[in-house]
Amino acid sequence: MKSAYVKSPYQFEIRDIVLREIGPDEVLVKIKACGICGSDMHTASSQAPDWTPFGHEVAGIVEKIGHHVENIKAGDRVALESSTFCRYCSNCRNGRVDLCHEGQNAMANSDHGGFGEYIIAAKEQVVNIGNIPFEEAALIEPLGVAFDLLYTADIRLNDDVLVVGLGPIGLMALKLAKLSGARNVYAAARSTSEKRIQTAMKFGASAVIHTDKINLEEYRFARGGVDKVLVTDPPKTIPSALKVLNYGGIAAYLGFDFDEENITINANDFHFKRLQLRASFAAPALYFPRCIDMIGSGMFDVKELITHRFKLENIKQAMETLRDNKADIIKMVILE
Ligand SMILES: [Zn+2]
Ligand SMILES: [Zn+2]
Repeated sequence: MKSAYVKSPYQFEIRDIVLREIGPDEVLVKIKACGICGSDMHTASSQAPDWTPFGHEVAGIVEKIGHHVENIKAGDRVALESSTFCRYCSNCRNGRVDLCHEGQNAMANSDHGGFGEYIIAAKEQVVNIGNIPFEEAALIEPLGVAFDLLYTADIRLNDDVLVVGLGPIGLMALKLAKLSGARNVYAAARSTSEKRIQTAMKFGASAVIHTDKINLEEYRFARGGVDKVLVTDPPKTIPSALKVLNYGGIAAYLGFDFDEENITINANDFHFKRLQLRASFAAPALYFPRCIDMIGSGMFDVKELITHRFKLENIKQAMETLRDNKADIIKMVILE
């Protein structure tokens, strides 16, 4: 079968590989769609010193199951949790499966990733998607990431919220914040991100702050500042996100950067204003049933985020397009 490999910087290969037999607790999935994630871009730009398979936002059809598998059957339409919890570690047993880092990881299981024809997954990772179209099902995993960010920020009815960064996760979180009862939701992005800004307005943003034209701190928020900030941009954006928080405000952050890891904040402001900075990291992947419900019921139309579709053989072109042309791209999906 065919499987895409990446090596930094931005080298790609489609290889013909032989798939191993599945184990008794594994499932073979014929891949129908796989979303391109920001982390795939990180991998391509600097995190793959050697050739590696990639892609983790997978939807497809179960082709074969191991003889211990009972939760899913051949022919089921499914999405894969990019990683899951182990059930055995102290965090899991103490009821914090969200903190588990011992669980199955789709990629660690195999020598192939979501950008390929098939993938072998642990049975625990496989979730039935019902009738959702595959390209939309590829957005279940990132929607779960947006949920984690939303819950981390503890958005409450009538909160004023700022979303920093309008990638797919930022846009999804913006809409979820609005659906959760936020009053004003502000979006901060460069003015060149036209398509993303349009979508933010469509998703209910009250205003867009063009960060290439004005500092966040200079913007006149209706309440002086905001109650919650959702940061989906690199760490260097955290200090100004903290500056616009009202007393008691919470900033939830998701947006690693391997080059600039350190930031400086004003600890006295942090103390006197009783601010909180919280990290969101959706591994293990959670909330799939909730995401499937929202997409399936039409409550969240993820199609509005899919701007580009590519075939597997054009993965190189897809990745280069995303690298070079962010203005009109939101989410790209690789289709069978
Ligand atoms: Zn991802
Ligand atoms: Zn665990």
